[in-house]
Amino acid sequence: MTRTGATRRRSGWAVALLGATAMLGACDDPFEPPKPDRAAIAAARQEIAAAPPPAQNARSLAADRALLQRVAGRLTQAAQPFCVERLKRACTFQVDLLDSRQANAYASGRNTIVVTTAMMRLLETEDELAAVVAHEMAHHIAEHIAEGTLRTQAGAVVGAIAGAAAANYLGVDPGLTRLGAEAGARAGRLSYSKADEREADYLGAWIMARAGFDLERGGMLWAKLTRLSGKDATSLLDSHPAGPERLAAWRRTMEEIRADPQGMPRRGR
Ligand SMILES: [Zn+2]
Repeated sequence: MTRTGATRRRSGWAVALLGATAMLGACDDPFEPPKPDRAAIAAARQEIAAAPPPAQNARSLAADRALLQRVAGRLTQAAQPFCVERLKRACTFQVDLLDSRQANAYASGRNTIVVTTAMMRLLETEDELAAVVAHEMAHHIAEHIAEGTLRTQAGAVVGAIAGAAAANYLGVDPGLTRLGAEAGARAGRLSYSKADEREADYLGAWIMARAGFDLERGGMLWAKLTRLSGKDATSLLDSHPAGPERLAAWRRTMEEIRADPQGMPRRGR
């Protein structure tokens, strides 16, 4: 950024503005999620094993849509400080409900977030839905869908949906379905990296907390997804960290937020 001319102005307003710009521009590091230790991951594994099996909830399509829009509205408002921190601008989100038998949610395009009706069935509380939507918002805010990969991502999303009925595979994000992953790999990119996913969980938790949702209840979603997917270890090709690691990191993030609720997520830890 060049500041000739502007810096010569003597008004306090201009100086204050430049100071704020310099502060915002000074840190372009990703948000840095906590790294849970082995004991914390082992405890989370036990917690997942002891969690009750997920229930299927029946709501009408209209009720699902109203719930999704209400939760997304609260989260969008709460996300703004994080948008400014990371993107230096406010953000808007297009949040849609997709009638599908595949439990899935994903971020695509520039600001679109899609949650399927099958995913809505699995979510027992508004807090769990908030965890899903805030996670996808975080993918957008952290610019995980890079400019050059917008088309690749869109292709992977279509692949995931097309394979849904046959695979009936549970996921959050298109890359979790085998078909979606294959489409992504063919196009040269396998969904998001695990680092992106950890960052999305971390930033998503901050957005959720700022919107007044309950992180303890929302975190049950990670236990539930692990129970449903039937696996608690990560293989090389999985795009998301394994459930116990995810839940353990979530718990550490909760402690961090509790210690400084009005603070900002850490960067460059
Ligand atoms: Zn994700």
